Amino acid sequence: MKEQSVCQICENELANLSCEICGKLVGLKCFDKNSGTCVNCRRGKKIEDLGKIY
Ligand SMILES: [Zn+2]
Ligand SMILES: [Zn+2]
Repeated sequence: MKEQSVCQICENELANLSCEICGKLVGLKCFDKNSGTCVNCRRGKKIEDLGKIY
């Protein structure tokens, strides 16, 4: 009975990280390591290109 956490932003990946600001569970693609927040909380920047992360 284990629920897998899904990224609460894109809902398209497993969530391994939590935003320090809003506490959302998010996956790597939606997490900004530099600020420790999700992309929604990161100010001044938006997701530029998800496909370019790797
Ligand atoms: Zn995501
Ligand atoms: Zn957040």
